[in-house]
Amino acid sequence: MVLKVYNTLTRKKEDFVPAEPPKVRMYVCGPTVYNYIHIGNGRCYVAFDIIYRYLKYRGYEVTYVRNLTDVDDKIINRANEEGTSPNEVARKYADAFAEDMAALGNLAPDIEPKATEHINEMIATISALIEKGIAYEVDGDVFFEVAKFPAYGKLSGCSLDDMRAGERVSIDERKESPLDFALWKSAKEGEPSWESPWGKGRPGWHIECSAMSSKYLGASFDIHGGGQDLIFPHHENEIAQTEGLDASRPFAKYWLHNGFVNMGDEKMAKSLGNVVLVRDVLKEHDPNAIRLFFAQTHYRSPITFSEDNLKAAAAALEKIENTLENLGHLLAGVGPGEASEESRKLSSAFVAKFEEAMDDDFNTALALGHLFDFTREVNTKAATGGAASVDLKGFKEAINSALSVFGIDLSAKKSEELPPEIIAFAKEILGKDFTEREAALGEVIEARDAARAAKDWALADMIRGRLEEMGFILKDTPSGLLATYKAK
Ligand code: AMP
Ligand code: ZN
Repeated sequence: MVLKVYNTLTRKKEDFVPAEPPKVRMYVCGPTVYNYIHIGNGRCYVAFDIIYRYLKYRGYEVTYVRNLTDVDDKIINRANEEGTSPNEVARKYADAFAEDMAALGNLAPDIEPKATEHINEMIATISALIEKGIAYEVDGDVFFEVAKFPAYGKLSGCSLDDMRAGERVSIDERKESPLDFALWKSAKEGEPSWESPWGKGRPGWHIECSAMSSKYLGASFDIHGGGQDLIFPHHENEIAQTEGLDASRPFAKYWLHNGFVNMGDEKMAKSLGNVVLVRDVLKEHDPNAIRLFFAQTHYRSPITFSEDNLKAAAAALEKIENTLENLGHLLAGVGPGEASEESRKLSSAFVAKFEEAMDDDFNTALALGHLFDFTREVNTKAATGGAASVDLKGFKEAINSALSVFGIDLSAKKSEELPPEIIAFAKEILGKDFTEREAALGEVIEARDAARAAKDWALADMIRGRLEEMGFILKDTPSGLLATYKAK
């Protein structure tokens, strides 16, 4: 199967053919660090984290670059409000962003460049644009002259003529056209600034991404991503700046954009004041459930945020957790018997369907649907089949491998949730030390099954009784004792 991706630039799904396989170069616009991120921003970075993970799962060697915009009007305004410096604001919220990304379970990008550390690269790009005659300087400000780049509008699908028809009188009379945008802004009193050929100033937002992506990924790379609100003007301007210098190659080949998180009928946005912060949601909800909530919808479609939707995702997650837990306990109780062909096929059929869904423009919603179907089948097989002939290990691996593409990790959590007394009890009856609660439980169950096999009913009942006292719910199955534990 070929991986297909929807390209905003061509408005269709295309076969994904990176320039230099197995390498994939991917750039995603990072946040402007002036505030804590909201769950809409969170969705964007989780969506691209899943894309990053799936590309790696497919065997690609991905270089993932995500920048930090640490100089901007919003940062300066925030510093004035908080009575501190723009540097302090940027540092504080960049740290908070890193914490939120880790807490959400996102992998760190390979490179995370900061705008303020790439001013020289931006100045060089702006100088080249002026030299080419497509940018001009007025009183220490530099503007990109949109009329000199005829392809302007190709990403957002607006022609220059349409945009001109909608033009109003320019607020800044010094610009040749209201569509022209700032590449360099001259410094105002008390603002962060750098020396440049046009005097002291700071870069515009769009030029940052052109300069930093080219520096780390080369003049042409495979994937450029961000939220749908970045298509215009940010990404349109990035294309103009970069292809304006050299139109012989595309700046980025595939443009991917995630849909919005909405609150009711409105986009969640700082400017609308309807934001819910990632860190606040994480106080109440498991990050795995938040990721599942995102993955239940295709990344390009809108999602409505609500407590109820998050709770529904948590309940769905619990079903998968229970299946995995049951498999773990069954596995602890059976030897490495030969799994039947039929049972192995169940896992491979699921993996094929999962990959087919993900290959279709990262259709996580469909892939998750297959995962739920598979866990239902697994539950039936595990409860009814003779455990030795059922491919328990294959089931577990297939589920975990799918979950790892979504960045959902249930292994650590489950073990911690078991009662700590299980370690002492395992030592008492087995005379061995355990560090992992799950392993201790597995061996206790094995000991109880062995006691029954040896008709040592007193020991078998004692183990059963003590497990029940610890809060386990126990069920005898054809493959041995099944212990489920629900933390109170
Ligand atoms: P910003 O800091 O506003 O540039 O946002 C960071 C990223 O989050 C950008 O890629 C935005 O497109 C994306 N984003 C902002 N609001 C939302 C939203 N409500 N839903 C999904 N993505 C969003
Ligand atoms: Zn950008």
